[in-house]
Amino acid sequence: MLKQIILAPLMIFSLLLTLAPPAQAGFLNCSAAQQSDIEKALFNAFDALSAATVQITPQNGAYQSWFGRWEPARAKKVRTTLSALKNHIRIAKITYVCEPARSSSCDAGTFAFVYPNDSGTIYLCPPYFGLPLLSDATFLEVFNSGTRAGTLIHEMSHYEDVGDTDDRCYNRDVCSSFARTSPGGATINADSYQYFAEDAYLKSR
Ligand SMILES: [Zn+2]
Repeated sequence: MLKQIILAPLMIFSLLLTLAPPAQAGFLNCSAAQQSDIEKALFNAFDALSAATVQITPQNGAYQSWFGRWEPARAKKVRTTLSALKNHIRIAKITYVCEPARSSSCDAGTFAFVYPNDSGTIYLCPPYFGLPLLSDATFLEVFNSGTRAGTLIHEMSHYEDVGDTDDRCYNRDVCSSFARTSPGGATINADSYQYFAEDAYLKSR
């Protein structure tokens, strides 16, 4: 009996950790299936960011791939950005706008977009919903197309009050060389955060 009383608060605490994200998502023009997809992707994004946070170490291969040579000030910048991303998913009220099939805002190859000065809105283009869900994806799928969770991380990192990142490089090949030649630039590059979080998640799975 006594044991149960002691364990109860711990169990509630771990349940809260599991159920942390998402905060209060709002949806515009999204079907019920799309809403449920977005919520799953948010849980995955939060888990991926948590996995990445503990992998910010000098010896970590995923960290080195996406942020290059270890240097404490750069590692601190990456840690701060991951933490801001997690907080944003956990706390911010975000509206997810599902763009229609022939939206003029969605160029070919655009999965999603944001306006960096509006951290309360993400626009999702139809191809976004064709991306794999990180928790179900194979390594190859993650490497080939990226994931829905990774895309949310990429976009949210652009918010001025979250990571204020740019698009200095796109795709895994280019961004892994960018990490070697410009490790400082990688810490303010959206794809670098996406790939680090996706790889950290796969590694921890
Ligand atoms: Zn971008």
